[in-house]
Amino acid sequence: MSIDRLDLVKESFEKKTVPVDVPEGKTSDYFGELVFDRRKMYKYLDAKTLKALLECIDKGVPLDSKTADGVARGMKEWAMEHHVTHITHWFQPLTEGTAEKHDSLIDYDGKGGVIETFDGKSLIQQEPDASSFPSGGIRATFEARGYTAWDPTSPVFIQDDTLCIPTIFVSYNGEALDYKTPLKKSLKAVSDAAVPICKLFDPSVSKVITYLGWEQEYFLVDESLYSARSDLMITGRTLMGHNSSKNQQLDDHYFGAIPTRVASFMRDLEIAGHRLGIPLKTRHNEVAPNQFELAPIYGEANLSNDQNQIVMNLMNSIARKHGFVVLFHEKPFAGVNGSGKHNNWSMGTDTGVPLFAPGKDAKGNLQFVTFFVNVLAAVQRHNGLLKASIATASNAYRLGANEAPPAIVSAFLGKTMTDVLHKLLTVPSDTPIEIAGKRGKKLGLVEIPEIFVDNTDRNRTSPFAFTGNRFEFRAVGSSANCAGAITTLSAAVAEQLTLFKAEVDKQIAAGKKTNVAIMDALKPVIASVLDVVCFDGNGYSEEWKAEAQRRGLDVKTSVPEMIKVFTEPASVEMFTKTGVYTEEELHARNEVKWEMYSKKVQIESRVLVRMSTNHIIPAVLEYKARLLKEVALCKSVFGSADNCTAELELIGKISDYVEQIRVKAAAMKLARKKANAIEDEYEKAVAYHEIAEALEDLRKPIDNLEEIVDNRIWPLPKYREMLFIS
Ligand code: ADP
Ligand code: MG
Repeated sequence: MSIDRLDLVKESFEKKTVPVDVPEGKTSDYFGELVFDRRKMYKYLDAKTLKALLECIDKGVPLDSKTADGVARGMKEWAMEHHVTHITHWFQPLTEGTAEKHDSLIDYDGKGGVIETFDGKSLIQQEPDASSFPSGGIRATFEARGYTAWDPTSPVFIQDDTLCIPTIFVSYNGEALDYKTPLKKSLKAVSDAAVPICKLFDPSVSKVITYLGWEQEYFLVDESLYSARSDLMITGRTLMGHNSSKNQQLDDHYFGAIPTRVASFMRDLEIAGHRLGIPLKTRHNEVAPNQFELAPIYGEANLSNDQNQIVMNLMNSIARKHGFVVLFHEKPFAGVNGSGKHNNWSMGTDTGVPLFAPGKDAKGNLQFVTFFVNVLAAVQRHNGLLKASIATASNAYRLGANEAPPAIVSAFLGKTMTDVLHKLLTVPSDTPIEIAGKRGKKLGLVEIPEIFVDNTDRNRTSPFAFTGNRFEFRAVGSSANCAGAITTLSAAVAEQLTLFKAEVDKQIAAGKKTNVAIMDALKPVIASVLDVVCFDGNGYSEEWKAEAQRRGLDVKTSVPEMIKVFTEPASVEMFTKTGVYTEEELHARNEVKWEMYSKKVQIESRVLVRMSTNHIIPAVLEYKARLLKEVALCKSVFGSADNCTAELELIGKISDYVEQIRVKAAAMKLARKKANAIEDEYEKAVAYHEIAEALEDLRKPIDNLEEIVDNRIWPLPKYREMLFIS
């Protein structure tokens, strides 16, 4: 057994870099060649179909079946040129990852052969059986049938031999069973709420677009070593493992030279992404050893989120080609940084004006401050809910750990904007907000420095930070579907903007000029957010936890409890008013989340107990037997064990740790049995939350054993062997 592990380590060390097939030409030559984007639409669709499709995409005008047939014809022609044989509706159920059911394009031709067919009907809708996907009980009351329906705003793409059609996934009665449906509803809600406010500044605005730029963090491990760790294979994280003597304390990995095997993987991934029209831009080493990051240029949120899902799929398959496995888990290794997926989020008008960046003049600046402050107000009112939107069993291991945002949602503004907000409270409401440097300094002027973007100091401890032209929601987990966070954020902001507009209207009705009305409506909101949700200090400190609680922010740390916020009255009101979720959907989704939580912890607990029993204890007892033999030998030769102090001490420690494992594992099994008997999903998740904490306790004696047992006998690849790709 010992030979196995050391052989695997040697094998992983000697692995060669896999060369990459680099397409001919520049990136711009092959960028987007596998998506049916606007360029393809112009080429493959007739004029009438094209016009109707673009109106559908840009203005939400519904498509008729004739147009759908026309689109399908064009898509088929394009797809056949790429040797496509199958189509699939591609959707995002409430599991991790995406789902697809492939259908071949063939049909009988009536002459004993087959032909390739693809019509508008199969483009628009499919009926996958919904009963095998999580629904939180929705399907039980109706039918098992679910529907996938084409989302024309996200382009169809080709993967291998298959034409993939991005779709929403809903039940027979229209309840959302996926991430995309509520995301799309929330993006519409926030646009509908934002447009009337934008119109106060520019009447020509008719739509507000939400943008998302995700930063995907991940770990790579060598696949040979991975395959020897059932915890990694089954749960995506190591459930045991002693710290490596060196991990990230020298800060030598962040932005360091990328190992060639990894660089080759990244290059391969980028090419695949670019061919699918995904604007991958940034790649670098992250803080922890073997941790990396990948980020595209930001884009429209629904599309950008689809692209993130596609990229995660690509990463899984391309990594294998290079002898790696990607870990998306938020905390695959204890003691080193975990992985997040920062969601850079902003909004802009269809006239091209960004709403979270200073404007060109005082009017533009007032618009910026208006949106800026209202976002903070939304985050304040729904801070517990936003935390719930990113709360999962796996992200819980990261949140609040030494390096990651704490389990409290506050907002970081940076000095510039904090000063601007304070200043606004003290000046008359008609004071223009100027860009410093453009005009001479006047007393009482509210100024934003000209060099503003990236002027915001970085506060890595904040879960929600303003970074110059966008907010960065950093608490999102690396394995998450961004839609969970962005849907909640957009809906909360939509609600707040509607409330705010009503207040402005009241002020205008009282005879105030628009800019004064806006500022008068903003002032109490500014005062409140500065007091409550804005925090620029150290989010890791103990003082902050106490302070946050005093301020009335949500400080819950248990995931099952956090999730409960989704069905509290304020959340239900917000989500139903904005039309993003019905109350029934909210309840159903919580059931899914609790069930998912319990199952994940249950699996981890089973794996840990089995690994202790099947791997750790046998190896350790073998070593103990050797030590005992040595002591016996010593006695028989020297007549006493006086020379065996070290052996006896080791034997004592081993026996002690093994006994701890036995007792803790037995207790854990019992706790699981009790938890399993609980019917209510929430109560069950609460019970499993305790088991999750006990996992940490059970690994301690195992990790201690790893430190004292003969290296050659240890059955599992160690942290130090997995964490340093050469
Ligand atoms: P950092 O790690 O310094 O935060 P990165 O360059 O890794 O920055 O990632 C920043 C992400 O934010 C990129 O995806 C980028 O496209 C995105 N981004 C930049 N500006 C905006 C914006 N206005 N709205 C949304 N996302 C943005
Ligand atoms: Mg960032």
